[in-house]
Amino acid sequence: MNNKKGVLAVVSGPSGCGKGTVLSYVLKDENYGYSISATTRDPREGEKDGVHYFFISKEEFLTRVEKGRFLEHAEYCNNYYGTPRDYVEELLEKGKNVILEIETKGALMVKENAPDALLIFIAPPDMETLENRLRGRGTEDEDTVRRRLAKAAEEMTLIPKYDLCIVNGEGQAEKAAADIMSAINAYRNA
Ligand code: 5GP
Repeated sequence: MNNKKGVLAVVSGPSGCGKGTVLSYVLKDENYGYSISATTRDPREGEKDGVHYFFISKEEFLTRVEKGRFLEHAEYCNNYYGTPRDYVEELLEKGKNVILEIETKGALMVKENAPDALLIFIAPPDMETLENRLRGRGTEDEDTVRRRLAKAAEEMTLIPKYDLCIVNGEGQAEKAAADIMSAINAYRNA
């Protein structure tokens, strides 16, 4: 890796679009780092503190907001989510490309504060596929599924504000990851 600062790549996509799987391929490459967010939502089964998220109370979250410890933060479906500032800056300085997997409000906030950030949207092939994936996951109750589907439709109207939109078709996660990495490399070397 050269001395150049890494690319800050902000990845959004509705819940159930397969972002996690796509990004797991990207993150196999040692030139990439992942920013673990803090959230006030409860852990899902199998999620670990400090691995998937830092699970913190609302009170602790708001204290960190006041202290300016987040690069961005947003409320999403009644919970707070935020990106720890120091860790991201440290990785970029080391020359790593940093992936932020965050929702649309936060992504647009990052772009305002850091215009060099590359905004990537991962979209499902269609809404029916998204709904099937969300229900198939079986981790959310009916109300939450409905809220997340409505949210997905809203988020997809923001695709034109992103630098790049990648459709994650069935069985195409590895290809979507390769497309994302080519885009980041091209941007880095531009
Ligand atoms: P989930 O609850 O499904 O893990 O995440 C809900 C949404 O919050 C997803 O769109 C995810 O990308 C987003 N998210 C996760 N971490 C952050 C963060 O640090 N900041 C923002 N703005 N959104 C986040």
